[in-house]
Amino acid sequence: MNQFNQEVAEPIVNPYEVVPAEVYEVIQESPLIKTLRLKPERKFPFKTGQFIELTIPGIGEGPFTPSSSHFIDETLDVTVMKTGFVTEYVHKVKIGDIVGLRGPYGSHYPLEKFEGKDLLILGGGCGLAPLRSLFLTLLHEVEKYNSITFYAGAKTPKDCIYKDEVTGWRKYPKVKFIRSVDVVPEGEEWNEDVGVVTVLLKQLNIDPENNPAVVCGPPIMMKFGTLDLLKYGYKEENLYLSMEKKMYCGFGQCRHCVIGPYFACKDGPVFTYNQIKDEEEIWD
Ligand SMILES: Cc1cc2nc3c(=O)[nH]c(=O)nc-3n(C[C@H](O)[C@H](O)[C@H](O)COP(=O)(O)OP(=O)(O)OC[C@H]3O[C@@H](n4cnc5c(N)ncnc54)[C@H](O)[C@@H]3O)c2cc1C
Repeated sequence: MNQFNQEVAEPIVNPYEVVPAEVYEVIQESPLIKTLRLKPERKFPFKTGQFIELTIPGIGEGPFTPSSSHFIDETLDVTVMKTGFVTEYVHKVKIGDIVGLRGPYGSHYPLEKFEGKDLLILGGGCGLAPLRSLFLTLLHEVEKYNSITFYAGAKTPKDCIYKDEVTGWRKYPKVKFIRSVDVVPEGEEWNEDVGVVTVLLKQLNIDPENNPAVVCGPPIMMKFGTLDLLKYGYKEENLYLSMEKKMYCGFGQCRHCVIGPYFACKDGPVFTYNQIKDEEEIWD
């Protein structure tokens, strides 16, 4: 059980077991972000919001949240931004290469609490990875939800990710998928919203009293997004945040990801705002 009293995906017999996975497809989403579609040697079940450790043999590993639906178990997508040593190598893998997966670890989005609700999903940059997983998982049983509003941000048009999927997503009558970019550099085409993603909240038309919102993105966006949603009237316990703290082991042994009484890896990465709001430096 995790803090939402949910069963986690499956008991992990050996949390260090690395499952080999073949790189099946590589999608260049933006100059710095790639999605790898992986085919694990055995089924690798997870619940949307949980994370995995991705190993590049001989190089290292890092925590990433699957970006695919948890209803798909033959393949698993990870969307990775190039930020440093390991991710540089993640970006070098080719179709047919073998990487490793361990996990899944941590808490997941409490889908049962979203049923019958008007859900808001707010994210930016590579924070869209777990949100795409959540969104695709919700679409699988879209009849269970009243509506899904997805506000997605990027720095510039060429930094937008999942570009080829947007038209399909917008065809769902219950879905409102709106994008915004911070700026449009000269020469780039864009006919959607402009401004940091939180400006889209001005268009929001959801009763905040009893509806949930899910937020994931760079720390500054998480902070101002959360504060704006509170101002709008959302309740602290209905705001779900994915906390991507620096972590290594993934299951509470190395103690790198402590947030007050919690481990971001074991008790998170999904927390409600009221759980962590009084802890120090949650936005760092
Ligand atoms: C639960 C969780 C889920 C994540 N999901 C994604 C995802 O879906 N896509 C994605 O692109 N990134 C994700 N990240 C961040 C990703 O793990 C780091 O960007 C990656 O590990 C950096 O490795 P590096 O060796 O390339 O970077 P480094 O050269 O080590 O450092 C570059 C930057 O990455 C940060 N970083 C380094 N190691 C970690 C770490 N273990 N955890 C967090 N930040 C780190 C450093 O503070 C630094 O700012 C997630 C992180 C967590 C904790």
